[in-house]
Amino acid sequence: MSNFARRGYLVLADISGYTSFVAKTELEHSHEILTELLELLVAEFQPLMTISKLEGDAVFAYADEEEQTRGEILIEFMESVYAAFRDKQVSMRRKTTCTCAACRNISSLDLKFIVHYGDYIVQTVANIRELVGTDVNLVHRLSKNHVSEATGWRAYILLTEKCLNCMQLDLPDAHLQLEAYEHLGEVKTRSIDLHARYRELTDERRVRITEEEADLTLNVDFRVPPHIAWEWMQDPSRRNIWCPDVKWSIGDRPRGRRGRGASNHCAHGKGISTEVVLDWRPFHYVTVHSIENGKVLFMETAYFEALPDGTTRFRDCISIRLIPGPRPLRRILGWFIFIVVNKYDKLLADAARLAEEDYGKSKESARF
Ligand SMILES: [Zn+2]
Repeated sequence: MSNFARRGYLVLADISGYTSFVAKTELEHSHEILTELLELLVAEFQPLMTISKLEGDAVFAYADEEEQTRGEILIEFMESVYAAFRDKQVSMRRKTTCTCAACRNISSLDLKFIVHYGDYIVQTVANIRELVGTDVNLVHRLSKNHVSEATGWRAYILLTEKCLNCMQLDLPDAHLQLEAYEHLGEVKTRSIDLHARYRELTDERRVRITEEEADLTLNVDFRVPPHIAWEWMQDPSRRNIWCPDVKWSIGDRPRGRRGRGASNHCAHGKGISTEVVLDWRPFHYVTVHSIENGKVLFMETAYFEALPDGTTRFRDCISIRLIPGPRPLRRILGWFIFIVVNKYDKLLADAARLAEEDYGKSKESARF
């Protein structure tokens, strides 16, 4: 038997509506449906978190603090897992011709995430590894809460105040709820409505520069998963590591987070430019405007394509807006500004190398 005390994020992903779903339907197909949805959750979770165990209709996972750089990525991650869950329900419903109650009611199942930050011990008894501790108990107790009752939401991310403090996030729009549990006391929580987030993430209004439209396209392979490459390209403090000649800082954060309308500032030799997000689809692509003195200099879409081996192809499609001139001229200008003057291709190669080194290190220190 061996014990290791650790600290990190604890996440319980709980398929809601399952008890009544089973009670009202044929067991065989309802069980198959649950298995397929749980398999999806496990597959989606694995790049970012360690699965502790399956608990009936829930998945319990954790991420050691050593592995996480920015807490906000965890929320983006859960939102992307939720989108995959909803897409999966639609495709399962489409694929089956079965008319049994279970198959007809796949969409009655939904998903909630309970997220807490705290201490835990990884306890191994007879080759069975388990997480134990007060914070582990709390995240489980929190799955029984009053959020649905107070808001009517069926799917949500519930975060404890302690967790939000660690993420250094303030979410003024999130639903505030106090919960109280015997022996554990009062817990302040904030929740995000996942149905609303899903509508935003699947919004048809997309803003993208395609490769055909771009005046300059750069490709770099990151030997890390998409969410890690995303982090290195999006987080201002990471950018300052691979882009040392300028200084990036955080600008606006509508609703406390990055997303459409959020901005970053870039202080360079001659002045300050502002990057404003036009379209934000975490781990897939982001489109921004770069503005200086009220003028749009360029617009770019950065794509993060997941490769079959789990790594990432980063593709930056840049449209030069600095001059209205003909396309060949804009292409030459793009090449001159980004490659000749700013050596952006070399900076991207540095970012990929640094991301890979850092990812290797964090995997090493989290191993136990
Ligand atoms: Zn069926």
